[in-house]
Amino acid sequence: MGQIVYIGLGSNLGDPAAQLQRALEQLARLPGSRLQGRSRFYRSRPLQAPGVPEDQPDYLNAVARVETDLSPLMLLDALQAIEAEQGRVRDGRRWAPRPLDLDLLLYGAEVIQHPRLTVPHPGIAQRDFVLHPLAELAPELEIPGLGPLEALLARCPVRGLQRVEVSR
Ligand code: ATP
Ligand code: MG
Ligand code: MG
Repeated sequence: MGQIVYIGLGSNLGDPAAQLQRALEQLARLPGSRLQGRSRFYRSRPLQAPGVPEDQPDYLNAVARVETDLSPLMLLDALQAIEAEQGRVRDGRRWAPRPLDLDLLLYGAEVIQHPRLTVPHPGIAQRDFVLHPLAELAPELEIPGLGPLEALLARCPVRGLQRVEVSR
């Protein structure tokens, strides 16, 4: 039995829907892993905060649920390899527009503080484009250190998130 992990997908360059779809196919082929489900796709406005480049296109976001035998850092390596394969160039700027972003949101109930990896992902509680798709997959989820997903959702600022698929 592997761990249940949740991965946040985002894209705002190129053809975001095609890139998210392709990323889901790549997640389904990760070694020692099984794609158990994905949320619908959501359109979100770029983050607005100090340090975040302005005037970016809107994002397309989703969350995937994967069962995996990979360790957290092996999984991070695999996610970054998928980002690179889809044309992501890391120039050191965080939050810049990108064809694909894959963030490890949760790794089972683990709390991880590593120079390359913070889990739960530090942005979770403030991000409607993470919380709403997560809730589709696991409404009863407990976020380690933060409490029930439902409570985080109730406190999350509304920023005009739009679900772009009616059904799937
Ligand atoms: P944010 O993480 O705020 O959504 P971002 O996704 O734009 O911003 P990236 O440029 O994709 O940030 O990643 C920057 C670094 O974050 C990566 O090199 C990676 O080592 C580190 N990192 C730390 N925790 C995580 C995590 N939970 N998932 C993915 N990357 C992480
Ligand atoms: Mg991110
Ligand atoms: Mg990232």
